[in-house]
Order: sequence, then structure tokens, then C-alpha cells
Amino acid sequence: MDGTEVEVKAVRNVGEGTIVLEIESPPEFDARPGQFLQVAGTVDGERVTRHYTLSSPDADGTFEITVGVDPEGDLSPWLAEREAGETVTVAGPFGRSYYEGESRVVLLAGGPGVGPVVGIGARALADGGDVTIVYRDDEPAHEGRLRELEADGATVLVTEGSLTESAAVRDVLSRADGQVFVYGFADFLSEAHEVLAATGHDPDDAKEENFG
Ligand SMILES: Cc1cc2nc3c(=O)[nH]c(=O)nc-3n(C[C@H](O)[C@H](O)[C@H](O)COP(=O)(O)OP(=O)(O)OC[C@H]3O[C@@H](n4cnc5c(N)ncnc54)[C@H](O)[C@@H]3O)c2cc1C
Repeated sequence: MDGTEVEVKAVRNVGEGTIVLEIESPPEFDARPGQFLQVAGTVDGERVTRHYTLSSPDADGTFEITVGVDPEGDLSPWLAEREAGETVTVAGPFGRSYYEGESRVVLLAGGPGVGPVVGIGARALADGGDVTIVYRDDEPAHEGRLRELEADGATVLVTEGSLTESAAVRDVLSRADGQVFVYGFADFLSEAHEVLAATGHDPDDAKEENFG
């Protein structure tokens, strides 16, 4: 992969098994919240690349990615071991499912999908928009940023169980309108489609990214 070697500025734990990497933005880097990058590292002598989605509201000077660390995985545990001053290689941005200044956003996140959701949520609130967040995780992350978004006016619902079985999720989504965004792994996307259809939204209109 071609790419640019950039400095890791900070690595922070933001929940059980979830980290944020703050990374120097490459020159001329114009990434929008919700777009993803290819990130490369050399793990045990082998080049490994994976995709990660922007989780900061912008990429001015630095940007952030939020990584759910899979202990059995190749790249995510390596990323979790990085320290400030070390480098990673990034290419991109890629993807078309990103925030484009919509005035009302409905953001659904599963697992590490919470990264782009907090990034878009912060950007939309800063733009004066209306923000609804529904986040499913057994061990929720980004508690601090979610609390800040709520204090700034977002509707935030965190649930540990199935979206489709939660009356609270149905209630929040029934009352929300605007551009829907969905981020997470394939099983979460299926569940999100089901609950969106049941609450008056057309899943085909959602902007979404499937993490695999
Ligand atoms: C567009 C896009 C955006 C994404 N954005 C994010 C993001 O913002 N945050 C995030 O955390 N993730 C994101 N992902 C997922 C990310 O790219 C990685 O897939 C994830 O971090 C796991 O990578 P890994 O190298 O740690 O694990 P991998 O080495 O890919 O392994 C993942 C799991 O699969 C198992 N496995 C691997 N090979 C086999 C095999 N042959 N047979 C059986 N099991 C196997 C491993 O044991 C492990 O449990 C995104 C993915 C895509 C496509």
C-alpha cells in the first residue's frame, strides 16, 4: 500500500478493550467524520493493513481513530501497544458514508462503530444540528464523550442488549428523524436495519459502513 508515515500523538483507553489513537494528519489531508483510512503496521516482521474510521469531528492537524481491540487479531493489539512518538502508515480517506452537513442526524453504533458516531455527533452539534445516538455494546466505550454530547443537547441511548427487543430503542427511533448513519460489524447492521424498518425509517436510505 502507498501511504504516509505519520506520528502517533497519543493512545488512550476509552473503555474495556477499546482505545483511541490520536495521529498526526498527513499533509493536505481532508477527511470527513465517517470516512475511513487504511492503517498499516509491521507486526512480527510482516506488513499488516486494516481499515479504521475517523472518530474525531475533524482532521485539522491531528485526527483520531477508535479501535476495538481483538486479542486474537493481528493489527488491533499491535495498535494498542503503540506509544506517542512512534509511527504508523495511513492511506485515504476512503468511503462515501460520511457526514455532509445534514441538519438532523440519527446515529446508530455497534461496538467500535461508536467511534464515527461520536465524531459525527460532535461535528453536527458544532454545526447547530440535531443529534440522536443509539449505541449497542456489552461493554460501552467513550462514556466521557457520550456524556459531553448529551450535555450539549444530543439524545443519547446506550443499550447492552438487542436493539430489536428494546422498547427504549424503538421509542427513541420512532421519534427521531433525519439522515440515518449506521456503523459496526455485519451482525449489527442487520439488527439495525430491522429496527429502523420497524420504526418508520427506510434502511436503504441510511449511510452505513460495514466493519466486516
Ligand atoms: C470500512 C471499514 C471500517 C472499519 N472501521 C473500524 C473502526 O473504526 N474501528 C474498529 O475497531 N474496527 C474497524 N474496522 C475493522 C478493522 O478493519 C479490523 O477488521 C479489526 O480491527 C480487526 O483487525 P485485527 O487485525 O485486529 O484482527 P484480524 O487479524 O483481522 O482477526 C479478526 C478475528 O478473526 C479471527 N480470524 C482471523 N483469521 C481467521 C481465520 N482464517 N479463520 C478463523 N478466524 C480467523 C481472529 O482470530 C480474530 O478474532 C473497519 C473495517 C472496515 C472494512
